[in-house]
Amino acid sequence: MTATVTAAGTPTGPRITAVETYDIRFPTSRQLDGSDAMNPDPDYSAAYVVLRTDAPDGHEGHGFTFTIGRGNDVQVAAIEALRPHLAGRPADELCADPGTLGRDLTGDSQLRWLGPEKGVMHMAIGAVVNAAWDLAAKRAGKPLWQFLADAEPEWLVSQVDFRYIADVLTPQDALGLLRRGREGRGEREALLRANGYPGYTTSPGWLGYSDEKLTRLARRAVADGFTQIKLKVGADLADDIRRLRTARAAVGPDIRIAIDANQRWNVGEAVDWTRALAEFDPYWIEEPTSPDDVLGHAEIRKAVAPVKVATGEHVQNRIVFKQLLQAGAIDVLQIDAARVGGVNENLAILLLAAKFGVPVCPHAGGVGLCELVQHLSMFDYVALSGTTENRVIEYVDHLHEHFTEPVVLRGGHYAAPDAPGFSATMRPGSIAEFTYPGGTFWAADLAGAAAAARAAASAAAEESPV
Ligand SMILES: [Mg+2]
Repeated sequence: MTATVTAAGTPTGPRITAVETYDIRFPTSRQLDGSDAMNPDPDYSAAYVVLRTDAPDGHEGHGFTFTIGRGNDVQVAAIEALRPHLAGRPADELCADPGTLGRDLTGDSQLRWLGPEKGVMHMAIGAVVNAAWDLAAKRAGKPLWQFLADAEPEWLVSQVDFRYIADVLTPQDALGLLRRGREGRGEREALLRANGYPGYTTSPGWLGYSDEKLTRLARRAVADGFTQIKLKVGADLADDIRRLRTARAAVGPDIRIAIDANQRWNVGEAVDWTRALAEFDPYWIEEPTSPDDVLGHAEIRKAVAPVKVATGEHVQNRIVFKQLLQAGAIDVLQIDAARVGGVNENLAILLLAAKFGVPVCPHAGGVGLCELVQHLSMFDYVALSGTTENRVIEYVDHLHEHFTEPVVLRGGHYAAPDAPGFSATMRPGSIAEFTYPGGTFWAADLAGAAAAARAAASAAAEESPV
């Protein structure tokens, strides 16, 4: 798929002709959906990007990164800063080699100062690089998981940036892992299509829910076929003891209950709090402390075993994942499809996990994260780790209706997507409604709030005449 070169040396063929960005926000904080010990009022949001080309096939690349409300505009501005790298780029070359786009973006010497490879700028790169992978998979006519699983190991290795990780994972190591991973992939692909990939659900466990709602949703999760649920913890120990007792009573002894503190604690608190909940047999403690504290996680892990330690949704890049694995700091590695620098970097992280033999249980939920990350786990099963043992993808039952290809759960398993691409495409009607602040929902909501404020002000003025 190399672009034709004219006598003047200018590549011809389709190019990226438009880079559109959208600040999309959903008012989820009003139902306490998504509430946890650190994030009590999230409005699930997507800083969303669409790459258009002038190719006759009409395919577009869609990507986004997830935020929880305020700051989504900052995230969109970061994506806008990448526009010069994208506009006019030959589409064939981009799709043949998205890894080079990733390296160009992380290597922008001025923007790199804002990271490097971390934070808002890196998340913006992730959104754009994922959009390129979406476009590549759509043009190949395959869902992304299959696009990756069908790819030659040598090509996959060429997509990974080994800088800063080659001390523990060389290109040769990666090639060996991918070649071994392909053995038996036809059989696993058939199993995946028949059975799907196991999921677990966080829907019962938000902090803002009543015990009655927790019990009802936990029982429903088991009835729906899930073998693991997750509860948010870390705001109040007495509450957590009561909620964990309630959940355990609802699901019985055989269902795994993970707990998630969303970085609430210092190392010592994490140890004490987790031990205080140990009688309810929690399966893992997730994000017990800062995602940057590699050695702290290692200390917690030693102290709370056999409760496992999980982290990753806020781990900023492959280098920190490398250190978590080197330090023996985690039992469960939680990739996120939209925090690091896109599919290429998650390939590096999946390879690191495979090398260390640590199971990957992705972070999902938010808006669109389930849709994206299922592809990475399915690729890992079919063509890398070769197993789903002790591996589950997080599932949260929110906002899927806004996507043209929403995830499908059957019997607690993610069904393998068939549609070409990365399942990132949001419905045009949802974009029109929830773009902030001008979409139809927000325009009406903000007008209503302004009218209420004016009414309150005039009522106050009448009560206190000058
Ligand atoms: Mg979490």
